[in-house]
Amino acid sequence: MTVERQKNRARVYLVGAGPGRADLITVRGAELLKSADCIICDRLANPVLLKFARPDAEIINVPKREGTGLFTQEEINKLLIEKASSRQNIVRLKGGDPCIFARGAEEAEVLSDAGIDFEIVPGITAAVAAAGYTGIMLTHRDYSSQVVFVTGHEAEGKKDTNIDWRLLAEFPGTISFYMAMGTLEFIADQLIKNGMDEAAPAAVIANATLPNQRIAKAPLRLIAEKCKKDGLEPPAIVVIGEAAAGDTRLSWFMKKPLFGKSIVVTRDRRGNADFAARIIRQGGNPIEFEAIEIKPLTQTNKFLKTLSRFPDYDWIIFTSANGVNIFFDCLQNLAKDARVFASAKIAAIGSQTANRLTEFGIRPDFVPAVFTGKELGSQLIGHTNLKGEKVLLLRSQLASNELIDIMQQAGAEVDNVPIYTAVTAKNDCAWLTEKISGGAIDWLTFTSPSCVRAFFDQILPDIVNSSNAKVASLGPVTSEHLEELGVRINVIAKEHTIDGLLKEIEDSERAKNIS
Ligand code: SAH
Repeated sequence: MTVERQKNRARVYLVGAGPGRADLITVRGAELLKSADCIICDRLANPVLLKFARPDAEIINVPKREGTGLFTQEEINKLLIEKASSRQNIVRLKGGDPCIFARGAEEAEVLSDAGIDFEIVPGITAAVAAAGYTGIMLTHRDYSSQVVFVTGHEAEGKKDTNIDWRLLAEFPGTISFYMAMGTLEFIADQLIKNGMDEAAPAAVIANATLPNQRIAKAPLRLIAEKCKKDGLEPPAIVVIGEAAAGDTRLSWFMKKPLFGKSIVVTRDRRGNADFAARIIRQGGNPIEFEAIEIKPLTQTNKFLKTLSRFPDYDWIIFTSANGVNIFFDCLQNLAKDARVFASAKIAAIGSQTANRLTEFGIRPDFVPAVFTGKELGSQLIGHTNLKGEKVLLLRSQLASNELIDIMQQAGAEVDNVPIYTAVTAKNDCAWLTEKISGGAIDWLTFTSPSCVRAFFDQILPDIVNSSNAKVASLGPVTSEHLEELGVRINVIAKEHTIDGLLKEIEDSERAKNIS
């Protein structure tokens, strides 16, 4: 799908970012973000969405809060027109739907009056998303044939409010209030005063669709108190009516195995992003700490010389997805492709390494069902006679010599060529130390010795040992390094992959819930 670019004519797209979770933006919205010259962003739009932005796109955040002196609506309107005079594709990114309690209409009016082309790209609005993520059905053939969206912002103290409390109190369906946390008590009062049953079911859903989603349920009379007691904070949707009772059978999101768990990932940026996506899929809250930075060594003479001699090798072995990524980045930079492998056979440690190769069109000839170098060596020897074979190892500079020794003992001629190394990334650690010590972290995960080293270079083992945070290790090699530093380990993955590690954490959480 491509986004049309009209020559020399600016166009402003009012795009709904969806309710919070980044992947709930529409396909059209994401495509427009990718091609935008300028993105003007609301406070409620998930900043993760900016990963779609072009590196050269201008990003302007316009948090808008009444009375705080941040951007006023008039300033935003002006900015839209100003940007449309110098840029071509402008995305105005707004939380939820751009036209539901979002002043999208005013922005569109201003653009229309200024003769600037615009489009509106709808988004999933918070009330709809909150319903879907809690099993509170806005409509249901048994009890709700109508829905109304109301702003709570207008409720209190506004003399000329448009809210008709009598009508709402008698409304025979589901009422969803936006921006109502500050006026919840007043809202309940008004509805009850105007005839609604004080025992009517009410629910408040905060941070809908996000890992920190919370829900409070109570009869209408008590809902404000319940929210205070449970510490629910905006943004939140208030649902009133039969529907608010919900049906626990339909509440799928909060039943996810890692729901509500804050899990720190400590790999490099690319690895963290992959790991975080898997945690989100299981309902968890990933906290990305970039412990290491992966530095390619593919520009070294040693590597470039090796590359020209690929046809000499019988076996080429990759031991990590990182290695595969870096190798193919390098091929691309050199304007080469997978034909460099010639007739060499390819082996990969672990399914993730193999999957990554497959994505580049390479089907590895051998993928041992084990995950350490030592095991790969033993299995490869079992699989094929390595006597006199020329083997090339493309891997981290930090890998141990075990694999080389095993293959040499089997008669192979081994070239070990490091294609990347990991260095400690520079971080501001105070925020994470505070979270760990403050009990806000459920799990810390470690997936390699270099992550362990880099993490504990920056955060003292004692901080972790004396906290509630549990430690999960990918396997024996990683555990060895944790033990050396005196870090207490709570679980070790049986299958030494990211998914294996997550499964271990899930099992541990499940066991805790049962006991
Ligand atoms: N245009 C947005 C609404 C903006 S008004 C939309 O269509 O969703 C801001 C209000 O939206 C908040 O006060 C809150 O009531 C609601 N809201 C936005 N994001 C939310 C979320 N993730 N969870 C619950 N409510 C949310």
